[in-house]
Amino acid sequence: MADHFSHLSSKELTVKNGFDCGCGRHHGMHMKYLDIGKGAADKVPEAVLALGCKKPMVLCDKNTYEALGRKVSTLLSEAGIEYKIFIIPCPKGDKLEPTEYTVGSAVLNFDQSCDLVIAVGSGVINDTARVLSTTTKVPQLTVGTAPSMDGYASASSSMVVNNVKQTLPLKAPEGLILDTDVLSEAPMKMLCAGLGDMLGKYTALCEWKLAALFRDENYCEEIASLMENSLCKVTENAKGLKARDQGAVEAVTEGLVNSGIAMAFLGNSRPASGQEHYFSHCWEMFALDRGKTYELHGLQVGLGTLYTVTILDKLKDIKPSMDKVMGSASSFDENKWENEIKRVFGNTAGEILALEDRLKQNDAEGRIRRAASIVSRWDEAVKIISESIPSPQCIYDMMKDAGIPTRPEDIGVSKQDVLDAFVYSRNIRDKYLLSSMVWDIGYMDEMREHLEKALDSY
Ligand SMILES: [Zn+2]
Ligand SMILES: [Zn+2]
Repeated sequence: MADHFSHLSSKELTVKNGFDCGCGRHHGMHMKYLDIGKGAADKVPEAVLALGCKKPMVLCDKNTYEALGRKVSTLLSEAGIEYKIFIIPCPKGDKLEPTEYTVGSAVLNFDQSCDLVIAVGSGVINDTARVLSTTTKVPQLTVGTAPSMDGYASASSSMVVNNVKQTLPLKAPEGLILDTDVLSEAPMKMLCAGLGDMLGKYTALCEWKLAALFRDENYCEEIASLMENSLCKVTENAKGLKARDQGAVEAVTEGLVNSGIAMAFLGNSRPASGQEHYFSHCWEMFALDRGKTYELHGLQVGLGTLYTVTILDKLKDIKPSMDKVMGSASSFDENKWENEIKRVFGNTAGEILALEDRLKQNDAEGRIRRAASIVSRWDEAVKIISESIPSPQCIYDMMKDAGIPTRPEDIGVSKQDVLDAFVYSRNIRDKYLLSSMVWDIGYMDEMREHLEKALDSY
């Protein structure tokens, strides 16, 4: 008989060696130690012993040292556990970047007599510790400081390599502690970012269902339900986040951890990441190319979600046809497209052009074949969109209520950056996105215009 796991907590999802699913596959991710809740940070010494380790190396930055690193050090001392601590310095300003410098700094200061890396922090510290842990082959225990992103349980790091944002496949942490007393005291901006990242699951799930319909990609009802249940708990409690309500913080935290688990269960990022994340990826690439900083991942994803929902909502009104597809395919101008890629991506354009050489996404024959599958099943697509996506107004209201930015200028991107990110996101990797679908059926101009108009109303 098939196992049902869509109603389980993060801890229940990871304690045993997986589940035999109704989709015919076995989904599993074994974490040796996981604790989410009030006062969980007190259990750091217990987690060290549970992981069978003797001498941890604590990794943090100056902010996360203040938030929790000092306390972790004290707990280890009191428990008689020998440890080393390294506070990664910020070379410029206050913000640590996930770059070669940060990883190099952590590696060069790693004490080889240590048998565990304890990452005290959120995004960058966690990502850096994962690279360190994978390369030194010692286990990793993450002790989170903010519910700001969905990477806590994931088996990858989001790093900037040669100025390009990349997702590196690495091993997932062996232990994870998220203390909701600590997390609820994180800067409000980081709580908002966590909610923004969770709202993105609406569009990610919708896009996954469309990809399964049109392209026969792997789909699992149980994993989709797990994410829908997590999202439901988050939106029910969202109003409490402003007041740092423990229930709201716990719902967001569980939701973010479950996102990582869902991705590990499926073996790809479909359950938790879609077009809304590609807005964020593009904006980060634009910022890196311009030598500028960028906003928190979750805040970018929140805005990306609003814009993705705006497009999806409009798509319900259209009726694609093969005549329009053929017209768009025959009038496609490769040179014009190449010039646009150079305008939009600057120094990174070369890599994107090389990717197109490899994937040939612009070729008319492949495009017509993909579009035919979409056109013939459009009614089913409209049904999926209607059932899985709230109205743009509803997303906008949730963001406003929680204090999440809703305008591009609030997060340092221009309206042109929003439109460029939508139109050219289909070219930055090989994932089939909403923008890939819109381009294939020949509706890119209409959707860009619609988004442009909508931007003025938000
Ligand atoms: Zn399944
Ligand atoms: Zn995310």
